[in-house]
Amino acid sequence: MTPSEQRQPGKEDSLLCPSYLAKPGAQLFGLVNAEGRISYLRHPITIDATFVQAARAGRPAEERFRFAGKCIQNGCHQWSDAKQACALVDRLIDQMEKTAEASLPACPIRSRCRWFRQRGQTACAQCDEVIRHKEITFIDALSAP
Ligand code: SF4
Repeated sequence: MTPSEQRQPGKEDSLLCPSYLAKPGAQLFGLVNAEGRISYLRHPITIDATFVQAARAGRPAEERFRFAGKCIQNGCHQWSDAKQACALVDRLIDQMEKTAEASLPACPIRSRCRWFRQRGQTACAQCDEVIRHKEITFIDALSAP
């Protein structure tokens, strides 16, 4: 663990997954911009069923927005029981290999983000290229046979 990956404060049971599905109650915190990167909102917005229905028109909402929701730990297939941590952020960092920059992008969920809690600024360095495609993230697609 490098200095930029030092664990950050945040209660385990209140952490948010930053690669969540579009469903009522989720927090909208980023938009996919014209460059295919995430533009973070100033404040997260709790979405409802009406938003979800509208956002799904044409293509999956997760391909146009980023959502956060409660990290369910071992209830998620991305959870590592061995590490007691989210394995997805480790895979993102291993495959994308982007180094942390001195300044962090403004992100409205950082104080409760699971990935930031685990990997600090190094997680944030990968994050603006992460787009969830329905049930998998792009990184799953990259590693698929
Ligand atoms: S990894 Fe960093 S930029 Fe991404 S959602 Fe978490 S705190 Fe925000």
